[in-house]
Amino acid sequence: MQGTCHCGAVELDVTLSDGFATARRCDCSFCRRRGAIAVSAPLSGIRVVRGADKLTLYQWGARTAKHYFCSICGIYTHHQRRSNPQEFGVNVAILEGVNPRDLGEVPWADGVNHPADRGRLA
Ligand SMILES: [Zn+2]
Repeated sequence: MQGTCHCGAVELDVTLSDGFATARRCDCSFCRRRGAIAVSAPLSGIRVVRGADKLTLYQWGARTAKHYFCSICGIYTHHQRRSNPQEFGVNVAILEGVNPRDLGEVPWADGVNHPADRGRLA
């Protein structure tokens, strides 16, 4: 699938792990603010077609996860997961032809009680 940020500076070629079956929201302190629905892709499933130099990296907390977003329009495109660093989470809303509304009810991941977070602010 093709994925683009809002301004079009960043374009990704995306192959999902299991279609939209992996779609999740997350309530950790970062995701609850970001508000995006993410789907899984293997590390080999994302190729930056355009705008690699426009992608900005945000890290916080344990600094394991890598959250990428467009430095021009601010749209979150994808992130390398902390729960599974062999995987990317992809913002479903950047995928061409996908309206997140069509996904209906999306399960929540328990980001507040992340197993890697015991004793730390999630
Ligand atoms: Zn952009």
